[in-house]
Amino acid sequence: MRELFTIFGNPVSHSKSPLMHNLAFRGLGYSGCYSRYRLEDGSKLRDRFFELNIKGANITVPHKEEAFRACDELDNFAQKVGAVNTIVKKGDKLYGYNTDAPGFLKAIEEFKNIKKVLFLGAGGTAQSTSIILKDAGYDITILNRSAKRLTYYKDMGFKTYTFEDFQIDKFDLIVNMTSAGLEDDSLPCPIEILKQTLPTAKACVDVIYGKETPFLKLAKEYNLPTKDGSDMLLYQGIIAFEYFTDNKFTFEEIKEFMQKAFVL
Ligand code: NDP
Repeated sequence: MRELFTIFGNPVSHSKSPLMHNLAFRGLGYSGCYSRYRLEDGSKLRDRFFELNIKGANITVPHKEEAFRACDELDNFAQKVGAVNTIVKKGDKLYGYNTDAPGFLKAIEEFKNIKKVLFLGAGGTAQSTSIILKDAGYDITILNRSAKRLTYYKDMGFKTYTFEDFQIDKFDLIVNMTSAGLEDDSLPCPIEILKQTLPTAKACVDVIYGKETPFLKLAKEYNLPTKDGSDMLLYQGIIAFEYFTDNKFTFEEIKEFMQKAFVL
């Protein structure tokens, strides 16, 4: 019988996940079908999951914390970060995972000799990725527009700054973790800060995908290697697919088909 999967979110119409997963199901000959489901009320996620009779789901904005609460069992990393983007049903239990952060970690592997990382932004994506990078030995500094979200990071032992009290330093990698540039032409922080940090950086990454943001444009003016959020998206999808299919396929086997979603 065909196994069913979906992505829950709001909005969800723009999501590439159905295409990514369906390409991999078809390419690998796995009997699965992946749809999208716009969920307004995140507290209904668990009920909908069982009503739809699905085997697994991805969860996107704004329901990742609600997805965390919907699970019966959590893997250690999801437990630590408090956000779930992948759920798999095993028996009558829901198991929760976070594949965004491992996806990001893998996406930056190609940049060598990176130790000090500056995160621009302190939202949900920065939260899980900063923890996995810290566990992997990176030295992370968080710079955010406003102070409120920084409390969490301060408590976790990160160096944190707002634009007003930022101390200029040398960073190997600078990452735009904000939504600045997604639907507008704004930079994630004042240009003066970028002009002082980009000259000594080795690379820049944006988590926004599918477009060249003003941040990446500026980084290119400094001849820095850059990448957008496409690999992060692809890799979180591959890792979710591994969970969905009980590790029947290798990362590379899944990648071969799933990456076609980015060239269609
Ligand atoms: P959140 O809403 O949780 O956080 C947004 C963050 O961006 C906050 O730190 C906020 O600062 C900051 N911010 C927003 N607008 C501006 C601006 N104009 N200037 C400066 N700072 C700004 O968002 P998420 O963490 O969920 O998502 C962040 C980005 O990551 C999005 O663009 C999303 O598309 C992308 N993403 C990419 C993925 C991928 O696979 N490539 C996966 C998941 C997310 P403040 O606290 O001051 O409000």
